[in-house]
Amino acid sequence: MCKHEVMIDRYTVCKHRQWLEYTGRKEDCDLPTCRTSPRHMHNTKNCACHAYVEDIEKTRSVHDTICPGCESIQRSAARM
Ligand SMILES: [Zn+2]
Ligand SMILES: [Zn+2]
Ligand SMILES: [Zn+2]
Repeated sequence: MCKHEVMIDRYTVCKHRQWLEYTGRKEDCDLPTCRTSPRHMHNTKNCACHAYVEDIEKTRSVHDTICPGCESIQRSAARM
């Protein structure tokens, strides 16, 4: 299983994590039976190999607030 590093922001109040972007850093499993590996042995699209990619979360910053998603929900709820 290959691993892709992704940047996240953490929000301590609602405990949500917001995904920002992939850093481009990858850990390759180097298996010929892994679809996301460059060593993958098949050229056909529909081979039986797995294409599971695990994400490694790398915390960019921690906020002592709620996340923007929860904030907009709270804001629209307050209007009703
Ligand atoms: Zn892999
Ligand atoms: Zn394959
Ligand atoms: Zn939230």
